[in-house]
Amino acid sequence: MGIDYLRISLTDRCNLNCIYCTPLEKNGYLPHEDLLRHEEIARAAAAFVRAGIKKIRLTGGEPLLKKGVVELVRMIKAIPGLEELVLTTNGIYLGELAAPLREAGLDRVNISLDTLKKETFKKITGSDGLEKVRDGIMKSLKAGFTGVKLNVVILKGINDGEVADFAKLSVEHLLDVRFIEFFPANKRSAKLSEALFTTAETRGKIERALGPMARQPSARGDGPASVYKLVGAKGKIGFISGRSDYFCGSCNRIRMDCIGKVYPCLFSPATHNLRALLRGGADDYALFDYIKNIFLVKSSYKKDSPSSGHIEMSSIGG
Ligand code: SAM
Repeated sequence: MGIDYLRISLTDRCNLNCIYCTPLEKNGYLPHEDLLRHEEIARAAAAFVRAGIKKIRLTGGEPLLKKGVVELVRMIKAIPGLEELVLTTNGIYLGELAAPLREAGLDRVNISLDTLKKETFKKITGSDGLEKVRDGIMKSLKAGFTGVKLNVVILKGINDGEVADFAKLSVEHLLDVRFIEFFPANKRSAKLSEALFTTAETRGKIERALGPMARQPSARGDGPASVYKLVGAKGKIGFISGRSDYFCGSCNRIRMDCIGKVYPCLFSPATHNLRALLRGGADDYALFDYIKNIFLVKSSYKKDSPSSGHIEMSSIGG
């Protein structure tokens, strides 16, 4: 499968502290001068696009904490050959940024939200920001994006009682709700491994509460999700089963973190230091060659189940 999808982490900083993600307060942040600047990110992105990337997702950390993110979106969107620019956010700043981001050229937005209850939001994220996220969702629905998705991680005993409430949102709004299976990625989340709530369990809950779902033909933007629709729904429901149903064989993605390290595969320790080239005076041909070589390395990986790795979602980008 060709590699045409790049995820860029804009920052390791986050304004939430989710129980299954990187414990930021413990590790501290990467030094500011190590983070790629706007021009460096845009130049790297342009080289990736020349090498075959068609879709870029901005993520983090929390990408909306990156200073001047609207201008950065405008710079990246202007890269010739890039077909789609999308962003994953916790939604805290979307209330104010949804419209400017759309105006700057952002095509779609994915908003991560695991609960509709104030107390549970505090338990999962350590923050009181639920109302801000709700406002961010509503503003995004009005901003004219070509798609708005909610990313939901269900944890047994914490928010599994809300599966049907989330699914119902796809009936009432032009909103795609995607259930992402929890995976124990690092030491902190490994402690929650008992909380794994499988895609099969989530699907069962939805169908018992809201009736059968119809499988949808796969569409651009679905990625590894299998997508369904409830009867009469405006939006769709997707399932991403990274834990119970590995999808290495169809993996078309590559990642660059906020300090310019490129990760061909989340489950491999191998990384490539693109920042050294960006700051070492490499010309555009050298960048292109370097990236093409990384693509070759990725294509040579075995296409079976990944070994368990140590993954910090906040710096690599979830
Ligand atoms: N701050 C942004 C956000 O909240 O969407 C982007 C980064 S966050 C790491 C991206 C996504 O990764 C979120 O939807 C989050 O729920 C998911 N994520 C992080 N750790 C995870 C884990 N161990 N299992 C499943 N999803 C995880």
